[in-house]
Amino acid sequence: MRSRSAIVLWLALAAACTPRPSKGSNPAASSVTAPAAEAPRTQLAPGVHYTVALSGDELNVEVCFGSSVPDRLAPPMGRAIPFLAKASHDNQPLTVVDGGIGLAQVKPGGCVAYQVDVDGLIGKGSRWDGVGRLGDDLMLSPDWWLWSPDPRPTDHPIRARFEGPLSPSVPWPKADGAYPYTIPESTFIWKAQAAFGSFETFTIRTGSASLEVSILGGGFGERDAAVRTWITRSANAATALLGDFPVKRAQVLLLPEPGRTGLFGYALRGGGPSAALLVPARPSAKDLDEDWTAVHELLHFSLPPLPTTDAWLYEGLVTYFTAVARARAGILTQEEGWWELLDGFERGSKVGTGVSLRKESETMHDNRTYWRVYWSGAALALQMDVELHEQGQSLADVVSKLAKKRPDDAHDWTAAEVVKILVELCGDDAPSQIVARHLDARDFPDTTALRKALGVELDGKTVRYDDKAPKAAVRRAIMQPRSSK
Ligand SMILES: [Zn+2]
Repeated sequence: MRSRSAIVLWLALAAACTPRPSKGSNPAASSVTAPAAEAPRTQLAPGVHYTVALSGDELNVEVCFGSSVPDRLAPPMGRAIPFLAKASHDNQPLTVVDGGIGLAQVKPGGCVAYQVDVDGLIGKGSRWDGVGRLGDDLMLSPDWWLWSPDPRPTDHPIRARFEGPLSPSVPWPKADGAYPYTIPESTFIWKAQAAFGSFETFTIRTGSASLEVSILGGGFGERDAAVRTWITRSANAATALLGDFPVKRAQVLLLPEPGRTGLFGYALRGGGPSAALLVPARPSAKDLDEDWTAVHELLHFSLPPLPTTDAWLYEGLVTYFTAVARARAGILTQEEGWWELLDGFERGSKVGTGVSLRKESETMHDNRTYWRVYWSGAALALQMDVELHEQGQSLADVVSKLAKKRPDDAHDWTAAEVVKILVELCGDDAPSQIVARHLDARDFPDTTALRKALGVELDGKTVRYDDKAPKAAVRRAIMQPRSSK
């Protein structure tokens, strides 16, 4: 269960990663020295263009502007400022003032160069900050090195290209052209991740989506084929549940860790959907067969990014789907799927500080009441799914319709807004009524009557069915593997 804590920790970091740098974390205005000269690029297309070059311990960035120059460049978070080694324009050093580099003297078509201290970053940062070294490969979250135009252009894109000996892995959409990457607005709002190295990348095509999977840190040796099978099967399980993969493209980083037992994962939304999975360096068949984290993280892409205070919704739905998707894909038996849910409800009901689900979500990290929040949300999801099945729909169908609308990752989503859309999409107010019944209640949602109606009860390490129960058919339909439809 450690993984689930890590996911929310990461999402908490994402929520804390605001577009504006914090003045509090801005060191005294620092003088920076001149790097190599930069030539104006008057022939550039409109917009802002980044050239990023990483070699050795130097990360050099050149930012060129089109016909309009923003007021300043500033990092997405103030903690990045101390790692700016130097910045210049036309051989003149530029200075950080009030959390940003003023661009008053830069003319249209002009460029600014800056350098980020990678060694310092690796020394001070941690994996949980999106920074680290895996063998010869580097993880360097753009939060630390991508200084943003302020204000950002609204009428032209921000684009990027990479130079140097190391290949990048970023979640940004890529096309042809001199600056092939388009940097989405969400890069500057939510936590993002990037990796550099000479690692192997392969594409999983699942439904109508392409997942770019990079294996860092030297790979998995003789277990490489098994790992590829596992991640592909996990992606296909998400696709099968939802009828299609919930986003068109995603970045997936597989991070081998010697000495690790069990898997660990997190999902990020900055710059596009992105998942990272920490995997034993030589995972056993049991490690991969019993893993739930890959399916779970990929299913997070079915909902728009939400603040951590709304974890009851996004972790609840995804925790529920994690069991259902694996059962439907045949990774779990139906009994194992039900056992996972019912056992989770039991564990979740024993955790909590006696406050409402809404309040518990707000303080989940401080009080470490993850099970209460995740499994309460999953119990709400089961209630919604049962009601929708009785109307010939399913919760997965409705969430899939939401995903197909391609919600804007840069929008400031709330759980209330998402529930309202789910109600519109299913044409029934069951989701909002179920939420209204439980969100401000202090008790864990009581599933006694629902379990009885479905005819399923925990029985030690397995479950006991009652086929005469009034909703036994719904119970069977929920976990039914594709092959037996
Ligand atoms: Zn999660």
